[in-house]
Order: sequence, then C-alpha cells, then structure tokens
Amino acid sequence: MRALCVTVDLDRDVNIMVPGSVAAGSIDRGNGTDPRFSSSEKGLLLLVDLFDEIAVKATFFAEAATLRRIDAGMLSGYEVGVHGADHEDITAIEGADNKRAILERAVDTVKDAVGKAPECFRAPYMKTDEETLDILPELGIRIDSSRYVGMSRSLMPERLSNGVWEIPVPESRDAGGKKISAFLWPMHESKRRPEDYLEMASAMDEGAFVLATHTWHIVESRERGLMSPGEIESNIFNVRKVLEGIMDMGMTALTLTDVRKAAETQSR
Ligand SMILES: [Zn+2]
Repeated sequence: MRALCVTVDLDRDVNIMVPGSVAAGSIDRGNGTDPRFSSSEKGLLLLVDLFDEIAVKATFFAEAATLRRIDAGMLSGYEVGVHGADHEDITAIEGADNKRAILERAVDTVKDAVGKAPECFRAPYMKTDEETLDILPELGIRIDSSRYVGMSRSLMPERLSNGVWEIPVPESRDAGGKKISAFLWPMHESKRRPEDYLEMASAMDEGAFVLATHTWHIVESRERGLMSPGEIESNIFNVRKVLEGIMDMGMTALTLTDVRKAAETQSR
C-alpha cells in the first residue's frame, strides 16, 4: 500500500483557546473572540471543488458546531470524522465521563449531518491522551489521527491494544534541518513551498502519507487576516501542486477508512 490520505479539519475560523472557556474562539480581529465560521465554509467550498476536479478522496474532521453552521451537503461523498463539539482541548476536560459526553455529542452531530456514523477522530489542536483514546471504541470510532510520527520509509498504520488504528501525521526535518510536518499551514502562511511537502512524501515507500490542513486556512491567514482573491488562488494552486505531485509519485488518494481496511486485510 502507498496511500495519500488528504485530511482536512473543518473547524471554526482561526481557532484559538479562550482562557476560562471550554469552547474555542476565533482569533480577535478587533471584534472579540466569538467563533466565526465564514472562512471555514468558503475554504470548504474551494477544497471540495479541487478534490472533485482531481479525484481526491479526502477525509474531513468536522467540529460539531461548525458542521451545524455550514451546508453539510458539500461533504456528500467524502468521509467525515469527528473533531470535537466546540473545538475543545480534550486533555483539559477532567474525567472520562465528561470527555465521553462531549465526544458523544460530536459523534451524534456528524451522524445527523451526514447520515453516517463517523469512524475517525482527530483531537482539536492534535492534543489527546490515553483516557480519550480508551473512550473511542465505545463511540464507534476505529481510527485515530491525533498524533505525529517520525517520517520513515514505512508508514504503516498501527493497531493499538484497544483495537483503534492509529494513522498519524508524519513529521520530519527538511534539508536545512528545520522541522516540517505534513500539516500544510506553513504553506498557507507563505512559509513553505509545495516542493517541501513533495520532498517529504518522496521518502515514503509504503504505508499512508497523511497530509493535513484546515478549511479556513485556504482563505484566511492567521497572521495576515483575510486573503485577497489573488492570494486565495495561489493558495489553492499550491495545494493542487502538492496533491498532484504526490499522486504522480504513484500514491493513491484514499480515505482513512480505506487505509484501515487495507491494513486489516494485510494483517490477517
Ligand atoms: Zn482544529
């Protein structure tokens, strides 16, 4: 198996932790930190258009509150997993029961919105712990993608002791020794080039190369604010360059569930 897993966090615009609040906010651009969702929805539309055009089967990790505010019909045909209810730092929630209540709500929202029970989970901020991992099977979740793993020739999914498959996001060092992960956000912030991700992906011989991004990051920069039409166009152009470049290396774009099934067959 040589898979490209395109994963997209569908969450509130430029999310930030808000002190004293379990729910996340959006970055303060002069009107406070109340969550906004418009960039997230716009970015989703652009990404779905791109994925349709170049035939990429992607996996979205949808935060429940965002999912309720956008047209979930756009996700039709894609795999949709869970990304919290209000983009909580799940590690800051005390007690397994409280964690379970939040995640249950998130699972139910995905199920209602897309008509299918979610099987994948990515923790908001990529922050997770053992207690959370142990709850996942009870909720019908079979795949976790909340961790980073060092880049290597073989990136095969790993089956954890509780039966959940870990399909992590790879991280590595570039030629200059600088840390790089397969999260595309530095490229959206003009700090990385598509070639950096192509070089990273080319180091994998077998397994699943998990790329990740956020929908809002296609149209809004954390540092510079809303992007101009020209910036958005070049941002999408760069995402296309990364995806097409990796598929040109012979990797097949698969959902996380596709990869889990392939790994299960191989392990039998
Ligand atoms: Zn997120």
